[in-house]
Amino acid sequence: GGFQSMGLSYPVFKGVMKKGYKVPTPIQRKTIPVILDGKDVVAMARTGSGKTAAFLVPMFEKLKAPQAQTGARALILTPTRELALQTMKFTKELGKFTGLKTALILGGDRIIGTPGRLMHVVMDMNLKLQSVEYVVFDEADRLFEMGFADQLQEIIRRLPDNRQTLLFSATLPKLLVEFARAGLTEPVLIRL
Ligand code: AMP
Repeated sequence: GGFQSMGLSYPVFKGVMKKGYKVPTPIQRKTIPVILDGKDVVAMARTGSGKTAAFLVPMFEKLKAPQAQTGARALILTPTRELALQTMKFTKELGKFTGLKTALILGGDRIIGTPGRLMHVVMDMNLKLQSVEYVVFDEADRLFEMGFADQLQEIIRRLPDNRQTLLFSATLPKLLVEFARAGLTEPVLIRL
């Protein structure tokens, strides 16, 4: 199964080709079809595995259908500013042909940011998370190690119930399993 057999739309496929990806990495091959199928996913994947594209490619597909309501439709939470910036750059490159807009922390179709900063923005600027359809907890074990547990619970509480939720993590400590149990709906566990 290559990218061409995943049923991707042309603008998304074109982004993948532009990045020079010939074949999906193992984590991409396992997760992309499941995410496209609409399932919640807990994926055990570390940096270097191609995990970012594993959640970005299906995200572009999911956000393809125009949405009448305003507000951000996808939310990607990362443990650090550096990772947020890197993911933002990656999102813009890979999603170049999708016409979707990305913003760091606030605004746009897709928001990428750290939980602490996001909660500030949610509180101070009354950012509504009710329009969010697709949520990614990236490097989730680090999000917890960095002490964002309370903010993550608070963010989850403000998200609509019918969202699709994905959790990517190198390790799955007990705290994270509990968080996934509460915040994800019948998640598919994917490990390499
Ligand atoms: P990540 O694990 O998301 O940090 O990605 C690690 C590196 O792998 C990044 O430089 C990606 O651009 C690259 N990459 C992701 N998917 C593929 C692929 N299918 N083929 C080749 N390189 C890839």
